[in-house]
Amino acid sequence: LTSRLRPFTSTIFAEITELARRTDAVNLGQGFPDTDGPSGMLSSAQRAIGEGVNQYPPGPGEPELRAAISAQREADYGLAHDPDTEVLVTVGATEAMSAAMAALLEPGEEVLLIEPYYDAYPVAVAMAGGVHRSVPLRPSSTGFALDTEALRAAVGPRTRAVVLNSPHNPTGTVFTEAELAAVAEVCRDHDLIAVTDEVYEHLVFDGPAHRPLATLPGMAERTLSVSGAGKSFSVTGWKIGWVCGPAELVAAVRAAKQFMTFVGGAPFQPAVAHALRAERDWLAQHRADLHRKRDRLSAGLSSAGFGVLPSHGTYFVCADVRPLGYSDGSEFCRALPERVGVAAIPPQVLCDDPSRVRHLVRFAFCKRDEVLDEAVERLLRLG
Ligand code: PMP
Ligand code: GLN
Repeated sequence: LTSRLRPFTSTIFAEITELARRTDAVNLGQGFPDTDGPSGMLSSAQRAIGEGVNQYPPGPGEPELRAAISAQREADYGLAHDPDTEVLVTVGATEAMSAAMAALLEPGEEVLLIEPYYDAYPVAVAMAGGVHRSVPLRPSSTGFALDTEALRAAVGPRTRAVVLNSPHNPTGTVFTEAELAAVAEVCRDHDLIAVTDEVYEHLVFDGPAHRPLATLPGMAERTLSVSGAGKSFSVTGWKIGWVCGPAELVAAVRAAKQFMTFVGGAPFQPAVAHALRAERDWLAQHRADLHRKRDRLSAGLSSAGFGVLPSHGTYFVCADVRPLGYSDGSEFCRALPERVGVAAIPPQVLCDDPSRVRHLVRFAFCKRDEVLDEAVERLLRLG
């Protein structure tokens, strides 16, 4: 293995899921739902397979899906993307991020990541020959705040791009208008590209709906907006993602993407197009269900003695283990499946500087109520 990949040999999600399996723990670690997405979408995929939609789809994605993505972004955010030149379908959001980095970075160029970061970002940067610099989200009992001074200070002569994930995994933070404006200002002032990860765009529970960075002044022309179907429609195994942005940037990502996977998921593409067009009610219900589940798990964690931090979006909530007499979330997560039969993720492994979030653990609440309740019952035994 090359030195640039050696730091990234295993993912925490696979590691904790394997530990959960071995110990028969309730797995609130890896984020995936335990119920299915809308039945109309599922039968659309089955129909597509039956009708022979089983060969390579067009390189940029099925036109029907690109049209549906463009229409959704226009309807929800007022953003206009030409489906032929400004929308690219990818193998999950993960490929969109990797292809974007491969397309944007000259060797040694830098990308700013906000930490804790999703674990695929530093790897995408490293595989593209780039270098990441991290900027902290600072936790407090009222939530996480972007250190905008640190963001400005992290920009150097070789900085090419900033990655912004809102709603944010693992913290559940939805970036405020002021934080978005600060990110946009840094991008404009230093002529940076923004790559936004908006896979949780529909999973916002409090306050205003999701606001894409591309809607801020001067940002549409410098932003690659990444999203996907996995989280919105509970099909994390389908790996249908996409990236939208100015034609020139999307063409660059497409150049990289075509030699990574070429294309993917033919029969799932018309099904996701259907979902984007016709499953708005299901999505609203899904959001309401997750909102309720957030409250259910947060209350349970509080009663078990954790200090629960607010989560405003995604399907994750972070909790402080110090009130339970622990100091290190990583040790806690590695012992928890064995001790009480529950699995969680330590956000410190998603950081260059683990110290700020060492006391935190992340729980996923995208699970059936009885699963959440069973987890809480087990966690009560910690006290
Ligand atoms: N970005 C974030 C922030 C995520 O949480 C995830 C998945 N869990 C992904 C990207 C990966 O998305 P996909 O499965 O569509 O590649
Ligand atoms: N995105 C999911 C999470 O954060 C899991 C993704 C993965 O397993 N790679 O839990």
